[in-house]
Order: sequence, then C-alpha cells, then structure tokens
Amino acid sequence: MRVCVIGTGYVGLVTGACLAHVGHHVICVDNNEEKVKLMQSGQSPIFEPGLSDIIKAAIQSEKIEFTTDLAAGVAHGQILFIAVGTPALPNGESDTRYVEAVARGIGSHLSSDYKVIVNKSTVPIGSGDWVRMLIMEGFAEQRATLNAAVLAGAGATEDLVTRKVLSPDPAFDVVSNPEFLREGCAVDDTFNPDRIVLGSTSAKAIALMQELYAPIVRREYAIDKTLPPVPVVETDLSSAEMIKYAANAFLATKISFINEVANICERVGADVVEVAKGIGLDSRVGNKFLQAGIGWGGSCFPKDVSALIHTADDYGYEAHLLKAAVSVNQQQRIIAIEKLQQVLKILKGKTVGLLGLTFKPDTDDLRDAPALNIIEQLARLGTKVKAYDPIIAQTGMRHGLSDVMVETDAERLADGCDALVLVTDWKQFRELDYAKMASLMHTPVMIDGRNFLDRKVLEQAGFRYVGVGRG
Ligand code: NAD
Repeated sequence: MRVCVIGTGYVGLVTGACLAHVGHHVICVDNNEEKVKLMQSGQSPIFEPGLSDIIKAAIQSEKIEFTTDLAAGVAHGQILFIAVGTPALPNGESDTRYVEAVARGIGSHLSSDYKVIVNKSTVPIGSGDWVRMLIMEGFAEQRATLNAAVLAGAGATEDLVTRKVLSPDPAFDVVSNPEFLREGCAVDDTFNPDRIVLGSTSAKAIALMQELYAPIVRREYAIDKTLPPVPVVETDLSSAEMIKYAANAFLATKISFINEVANICERVGADVVEVAKGIGLDSRVGNKFLQAGIGWGGSCFPKDVSALIHTADDYGYEAHLLKAAVSVNQQQRIIAIEKLQQVLKILKGKTVGLLGLTFKPDTDDLRDAPALNIIEQLARLGTKVKAYDPIIAQTGMRHGLSDVMVETDAERLADGCDALVLVTDWKQFRELDYAKMASLMHTPVMIDGRNFLDRKVLEQAGFRYVGVGRG
C-alpha cells in the first residue's frame, strides 16, 4: 500500500521504516531539512536498536523515501499518518499546534482521491473530529485560492485538473491509531505489538488499516511467529484516544504506587525488591512496572498524565488519583538528593557523578529525564556534577547538559567523586570495574537510584551502597 508518514521522530520514523520493511511504499515527510538530508543518506537521526539497518534496507529496496515536501507525501499516500510531537504546555495541557499545522497542510493538498488520515500522535480526546474540521478548512482555503486564480485568469486550469479540485468535497476518513511502542525497543515493539487499536466510525477506513497491518497482525515479522495473531481493538475515535492516555496513566500510577511502597519500606525496615517480587507473582498484579526507583520521566508519561488530568478538569472532574501519582513522582525525583545529603551531609563543594542520563536505557532521549532534575538540584546546592552515559558519550550530544561535565567512561567519571548516583539502568553498568572505580573516588558511595546493581558486588568493591526502599 502507499503510505505517507508526517513527522519522523521516535514514532514516525519507526512506523515508516517498519511499514516499508513489511513491503509498503512509504514516503516520510518532515519539516526539519537537516533530519531529512540525514535520513536520505541512510542514517537515523535518533538512536533506536535495529532502526538504521531497516532504514538502509528499505532505501535500497526503494520502499522508503524522505522529503520535506508535504504535497508529494499527500499525493502519494492512500494512508497518511500524522506523527508529530504533542508536548505539554506549561499548564499541563497538550500542545497540539504541530498536529494543527499538519492537518491544515494535508487539507490544502488533498484531491478527491479517498484517503485515510491517521492520528498516530497522542492527541487529546476529541481530536479526531477536530482534525477532520482542520482538514476541511485547509481544503477550503486551497479551493478559494485556486478559484481566485481562475477568476483572475491566471491559467490555473491545469492545476485544477491535476488536483481534481473541481470535483466534490474530498473523500477521507480520520482514524485514531495510538502508538504504544517503547523507546529503546521501538522496532521490536512495532513488529510484536500487544495490540493494535483502531478508532473510527468508517468501515472502509478500518478495512484499509486492517490490510495495512495484516503482516504484523499475522506475526510475519515477530520474534515468536507461533504466537496467536495480534489482537486488533476496533472502537470509536474517542475511546481509541482515551485508551492511549489511560494506558500511560495506569503504568505511571503503578510505578508511583511501588515508589510509595518503597518509601514506607525504608521507614519500617522492609525491602521493596522482596515486596515487589511477592506482590508481582499475583497474576492480577503482574511483575512489570514494579521496580522502585527515582521516578518516571521521558517524553510520554509526564505529558500524557498531565494532559489527562487537564482533560478531566475541562469536564469538571478532579482526577485525584492521577494527581497523587504525579505528586509522588515529583517527590521521588529528588530522593537521590536526600540520600546524598544523608550520607555526605553538606553537598556544597562536593563532586557527584551520575551513571546514566537518558530517561531509560537503549535510547538517546533526554526529554523530561529524572537526571535533568537531579543535575538542576545539585547545581543549585553548589555541587559539581559529572556524568557518564554510554549513548551520550557516543553521540556527543550536549543539548540541555550545560551544568554537567560529561565524561567518556565510567572510570573517568568516578575519578575524584564523593559519590555516584545510578540514574539509568544501562545493562553495561552491571559489568563495570567497581573496585577500580572505588579506588579513584574520595569516598566510594553508590546511590543506586534503580535498585539495579548487586549490593554484595558493590560492597566487596569497597562501596557504601544505598538503594531505594531497601530497609
Ligand atoms: P518527536 O518530537 O521525536 O518527533 C516529531 C517529529 O515531527 C520531528 O521530527 C519534527 O521535526 C516533526 N514535525 C513537527 N512539525 C512538523 C510538520 N509541520 N511537518 C512535518 N514534520 C513535523 O516526537 P515523538 O516522540 O515521535 O512523538 C510523536 C507523537 O507520538 C507524540 O504525540 C507522542 O506523544 C506520541 N508517542 C510517542 C512515543 C515515544 O516513545 N516517543 C510513544 C508513543 C506515542
């Protein structure tokens, strides 16, 4: 099928590349020229395991193209994905200006050929109808411009014919198809989704989306091909939009729950790791998202939970539980500072090293990463902050890291530090030479913000080990 993906970030680029990999013809549109040039040369502007390989293969097999030309993308696609960012505004509301620009842009290039317009971006509940309205407005503007040109005798006839503007209103349907991929394993998640959600009232649009996803639903590209087909949830637009917010709000609340339990564990002398194991074995609870630590972050949970709270507020409902989940998380973000103060007392003039900066391992995404709060707080307290993160060391990325000295390996990081804080659970941090690192530090203290390291190994290496909620 012919597909156009607008916005080539973590979601759009992975979606476009994976759809090209399964055999569709994909044009990816982005308004960032530098990014487009990079992708045209076969490189991925983001770090995501396996992504570069499938982009290169898709370019070679001529299944994927990259452009800044929205008109070309719209003309090409039977199915058009909107996958631009929807960051949070300062009041917590979702900033939908990029979706608005793209929807109007699509409208201004539509002809009468039937298209399915897919909201892949996480958009506030009710956005399906809003996007339809914007597309119609964009189309009306296009028609008015062309009509004016005809009236002025500017010879737009050829354009009118090729774009079929003289035919009736454009035929299109809007589908909500929220994305659930996790950064760090986005390609695997796209080929092995737990479910696909399709929200629309149009049977025709749903049928085309089913056809698009058929190879993935049949598990043709799955790690385990013996699994039953991927469940497809067909629902109305608003329910599909709500599923995305409710899923993220639930996961964020689950983490805040175990962090609250961890804080109580610390006070009563229980070990949250044992507690999580004990409750996670209950199939009604499950063991995922029960790792206590320094809180949730990243580009989705914080903004999506805030947006849902904001939506509830708009409809006169106070989302008490979600507000509590956010408040526990804000407190949890500074728990590393409290632990450093308990061990080192005065932080002014001390040097603290952060192991990891990204909000989770296997990604280069620093958006709303807990590390940024920790850096800000430590800098405010007069502490010198150093950091080592495998991907930041590799990419040389420094945006947003002005208050921190970025080191190129863990031993350089440890050198001269009064304490280390493990912020991101990169698996290679389990293999470091901690005895060597301890010997390079003023005081070998490890605050394990993810309960990720082996306490015994660290203590044998000479560290004072402090976890989260470990009694
Ligand atoms: P991103 O910021 O990484 O990428 C957005 C891209 O859109 C950028 O490349 C930007 O240049 C491009 N863009 C912006 N305006 C444009 C325009 N007018 N025309 C063309 N391109 C334009 O965002 P992301 O992380 O991929 O997220 C996209 C959406 O998916 C968001 O709504 C997000 O909430 C949702 N989502 C993200 C994730 C995730 O893990 N990142 C997971 C699920 C859902």
